[in-house]
Amino acid sequence: MTSQILERKRIYQVWPGKNKFYCGGRLVFGPDASSLLLTTCMIGGPAITFCIRMAYLIKERYPFFHSLILIGAILLTVLDFTFLFLTSSRDPGIIPRSKEAPEADTADVITQSTEWVSSKLGNAKLPRTKDVMVNGFTVKVKFCDTCQIYRPPRAFHCSICNNCVQRFDHHCPWVGQCIALRNYPFFVCFLSCSTLLCIYVLVFSWVSMLEVHGQFYVVLADDVILGVLALYCFVSVWFVGGLSVFHFYLICTNQTTCENFRYQYDKKENPYKKGIVKNFKELFLAKSPPPLINFRDWALEEEDVEVGSIASELDRAFGPRDSRMSSGKSSHSETGVW
Ligand SMILES: [Zn+2]
Ligand SMILES: [Zn+2]
Repeated sequence: MTSQILERKRIYQVWPGKNKFYCGGRLVFGPDASSLLLTTCMIGGPAITFCIRMAYLIKERYPFFHSLILIGAILLTVLDFTFLFLTSSRDPGIIPRSKEAPEADTADVITQSTEWVSSKLGNAKLPRTKDVMVNGFTVKVKFCDTCQIYRPPRAFHCSICNNCVQRFDHHCPWVGQCIALRNYPFFVCFLSCSTLLCIYVLVFSWVSMLEVHGQFYVVLADDVILGVLALYCFVSVWFVGGLSVFHFYLICTNQTTCENFRYQYDKKENPYKKGIVKNFKELFLAKSPPPLINFRDWALEEEDVEVGSIASELDRAFGPRDSRMSSGKSSHSETGVW
């Protein structure tokens, strides 16, 4: 069987991870993307109900006041869904698997671990971990048995998606996608926007109830819709608001959720910390790093499910290792072993 007589396939069609691809590999979702439906209902349901109620109040009460509230609610909802879509449909920073056994000895290696693993590719014995230098700090990186690569610093293998992902933060079941290097800014914007929307609906439901009925106590009986909306948003805002605050803390200290949960920096200095302003600039103002894989490229062969060489792909995307460790957004790199 030769590759010429087989139908040519694109990389996304033979990709060994569990991602779901749409629009010919242009949109990359996580395997649990169906949970987006629930998230959409939980945001869209109350938001649309609020808008409809405001539309009624435009007719019944003060057209100008309620029109402004309605426009604000529509804008916030559209913005929220845009950030949700950008978070869940974008390649979060998937790292290509290797089809060549990695070199055991590179310039990065300072010390080698005593534990050795056998590479599936080429019977080579490789150290389980190796030390690399990041911003003058020594950082351990681990060999991934599934992807057959030494994970770049800060990368982690997501067991749900079955991929190693750059600057892995966590896998979010609400957006059904890994939150990592390339979609983290959108995720933070989505969280912030959801918090704002919650506060907006809560405040203006309350204001409208007071304005219409005069007294808050009689409102729940009189205007059940606005009462339930206010209650729903009051409960939700603790959840999304809490998450937003937590992620702003992580940005200030330049940590990932994964690192924070493992108390990575309790005992040692965080090599990625650059100061609050620089951390924010790096996240929101720096150019988004390019994907390491073009899922629309042709797979080399029919049975070629392992795509590309990690070294060449990383170099193509980020330039030589030394420069990507030392500057800019691409220096998002890991401390410790994952
Ligand atoms: Zn992996
Ligand atoms: Zn994942």
